[in-house]
Amino acid sequence: RDVQTVCREAVMLFGGLPPMPRYTFLLHLGDNLYGGLEHCRSTLLMASRDSLPEPDNRAGHRYIQLLGLFSHEYFHTWNVKALRPREYQHYELQQEQPTEMLWLFEGFTAYFDNLLLVRSGVIGIHTYFDLLAQDIARYRQRPGRRHQTLAQSSYEAWTKLYNGGEDAQNSSTTYYIQGALAAWCLDTWLRVHSEDGISLPMVMHRLWHDYHQHGEGLDEARFLRLTADLLPEDLEPALRGVLRRLVHSTEELPLEETAARLGLSLQMQPSAGAGDLGSDVPAVQRYQSDPGIRWQRRGEHYIVSRIDETSPAALAGIAMDDDIIAVNGYRASEAQLARHLQHAAPGNAALLHIFRDNVLEAIAFTLNPAPADTCIITRDPDADEDSRIRQRHWLNRKADA
Ligand SMILES: [Zn+2]
Repeated sequence: RDVQTVCREAVMLFGGLPPMPRYTFLLHLGDNLYGGLEHCRSTLLMASRDSLPEPDNRAGHRYIQLLGLFSHEYFHTWNVKALRPREYQHYELQQEQPTEMLWLFEGFTAYFDNLLLVRSGVIGIHTYFDLLAQDIARYRQRPGRRHQTLAQSSYEAWTKLYNGGEDAQNSSTTYYIQGALAAWCLDTWLRVHSEDGISLPMVMHRLWHDYHQHGEGLDEARFLRLTADLLPEDLEPALRGVLRRLVHSTEELPLEETAARLGLSLQMQPSAGAGDLGSDVPAVQRYQSDPGIRWQRRGEHYIVSRIDETSPAALAGIAMDDDIIAVNGYRASEAQLARHLQHAAPGNAALLHIFRDNVLEAIAFTLNPAPADTCIITRDPDADEDSRIRQRHWLNRKADA
């Protein structure tokens, strides 16, 4: 019933059922599976057995994640399987076909997948805020966002995103998460600048009907023109500027501003440990300092697995795959590394002894303050009336429920 409700929401958004007699969801359950692949008239979903709803875990996070996957792949029926990038209009199956447009076809789909869950009422708004906050944290924790634009991330998907190993985190961003957040920013921008007359759901509806009429693939110029057509005439240059910032620059996404326009506040705080995306742990237990690197334990070794190229550690010469053997004179262990690199005072010096190609090196650098890269989203009690009403439209709620 939940899947039906979500699918109905997608059908309403596009203004009609997809033109086919029958659509099939194939769900493959196993251990530690997750993923989906869209086809023209069906989708193959993979999930863990414990994703299925039981009377006592209906709101379990794996179940909600699975609903998001259903929603995502079904949305693709319109957005990428029918309406598609201009380059995909005629598939060349012999070779890669790069396109800059995956921020729209994957990113927008990733935005709408969870949004449709809350708009249809299948999940509550606070659950949705948590999902959105987790995406914001993942985005802020990815150093590669400073090195690659969304358009580049799309164009280089074959060589970087799916082929970059652990280093992809450092050198590239993802058109899924960053694309979804850019869609959120754009949706809000459209609402604000059209006095809440135009929204991204309406743009999707428009794109779909244009495709239905003309059968043409979509490029950025066409997207811009079709979206601008919905807006007051003098807003086209501003829309162009917004797209340039969101899609073609490495400038930080305007997330705080977007949240404020929807009557929300983002509480950004330093991480409380590996995997923390947003939690209510007290400030004293959070990271105080940031070495600009992350490590992975392999046997008795602590190997540098992530590095922010702008950090003092990187500038001092620490590199990927360095084998850390000691920190400030203490043998490397999870506890010592955390104590000396993440729970030390910012401005403190850190000294790492590392092996690189079996040669011992000592590298010293200064610790930065820990970045505020985990997120909690709450309603702003002081939000103005316009923002509160906009929030209700966005979430499809009649009252502040
Ligand atoms: Zn997808």
